[in-house]
Amino acid sequence: MTDLYIRGKFVITMNKKREIIKDGCVAVEDGIIRAVGKCSELDKDYMGKADEVIDASKHIVMPGLVDTHVHLVQGMLKACANYRRLIPWLKDRVWPLQGNMTADDALAAATLTMVEMIKTGTTTFLETGLVGRYGPDRIIERVHDVGLRAAISRHVMDMTGYATEENALHPGLVETGEQSMGDTIRLFNKYNGWDGRIFIWFGPRTPGAVSLELFREISSKAKELGTGITMHLAEVKDDVIYLTREFGRKPIEFAHYVGLTGPNVVLVHTVWITDDEIKLLADTSTNVSHNPSCNSKLGSGIARVADMLNAGVNVTLGCDGGPSNDNYDLIEEMKIAALLQTASKLDPEAVRAEDIIEMATLRGAKALGLQDVIGSIEPGKKADIITINYWDPKLMPMNDPVSHIVYAAHGDDVSDVIIDGKVVMKNRKILTINEDKVLEDVGRHARELFERAGICKEPEIKWPII
Ligand SMILES: [Zn+2]
Repeated sequence: MTDLYIRGKFVITMNKKREIIKDGCVAVEDGIIRAVGKCSELDKDYMGKADEVIDASKHIVMPGLVDTHVHLVQGMLKACANYRRLIPWLKDRVWPLQGNMTADDALAAATLTMVEMIKTGTTTFLETGLVGRYGPDRIIERVHDVGLRAAISRHVMDMTGYATEENALHPGLVETGEQSMGDTIRLFNKYNGWDGRIFIWFGPRTPGAVSLELFREISSKAKELGTGITMHLAEVKDDVIYLTREFGRKPIEFAHYVGLTGPNVVLVHTVWITDDEIKLLADTSTNVSHNPSCNSKLGSGIARVADMLNAGVNVTLGCDGGPSNDNYDLIEEMKIAALLQTASKLDPEAVRAEDIIEMATLRGAKALGLQDVIGSIEPGKKADIITINYWDPKLMPMNDPVSHIVYAAHGDDVSDVIIDGKVVMKNRKILTINEDKVLEDVGRHARELFERAGICKEPEIKWPII
């Protein structure tokens, strides 16, 4: 008995030949994709025999999206830190807010982010760094229970600076090396590999918050456990200034020096890097997460995505967080990523829609070590699949499904989300959690948090609200 049979209009397979199947169908059994092909060929085997048939006849069917840089708890902090560069953005707004969060606030915020990701087509994500005060266990269990797939990093640190700024970190977020490292290993032992959907990674805080010894310990422990590491790096010029001054090394050289390069590493942003560093990323098969909305909003710069892709670096895509984006819609992020490259390179072919879709699917899967598991619609892979409704003025006429997804679609066009063969959202209704309750809870927790932290109590708009 087939569990699920999806009858689509266009299936973007992302298989080796990158075939797009018109009037294409997908059959799923036990969470695994069993068959992909023309409906005219598959119908005789699957129609009438599936538990559930999804009519996607006015839809594009494609692999679920992979967001490689997410701050779950920042979902609650939208519009709380506008018009600031990274360091004051962190020091004066984001960290004090996060440092005042209770575990209940953090869970409400993280759940909001999960719901938003599902509703906009993200099926797998990489969380950058939970800490003890957020109650990481309950957040990880919520990720599992809403049905998402994720690599979830826990922050590791033993210093309190950010680059050149000493004692930048809010006291509410400070942890010792022993505490943060020990808890990461505890979470790894408790949750890693859970149902093949939950993986626990190391999330060292940025340079300035981690000693050389601890960086090296993280690197060797991750290798020993066979897991990944993710860290922000070279997001702003301050990273270059600090690492050159303190260690005589540019950011990627520094990462290499402390063992933070390799196929199990995702470095986030890498805006301020040189040609030599791009080569080092490629030579070491280190993955990069590009977050164009965040880099634009905070005035950090434009990452050299086209140059990195041309050099053979595995560049992926991320939404980052609530106060830097301000949403978790990876489809919107695709368009921004494409436009920034063509504008900054003065070259309309600097990147193509195909490159961007690869970043949001297969390349993301590879960065998470899941290239044989997800990222394409092929027999044998796990069924992480989304459908995008194109029966909408902005997506008609349907001339080119690849171009339309990158340049015309929004996250709200996602209709159905299937993760691990399970229908998690159908016709935009999430089936694994009560969305209304999530929205109500987060409003209440946000008001309490803003009051407690004394930040973001009033909107910062210049116009009077009467
Ligand atoms: Zn970030």
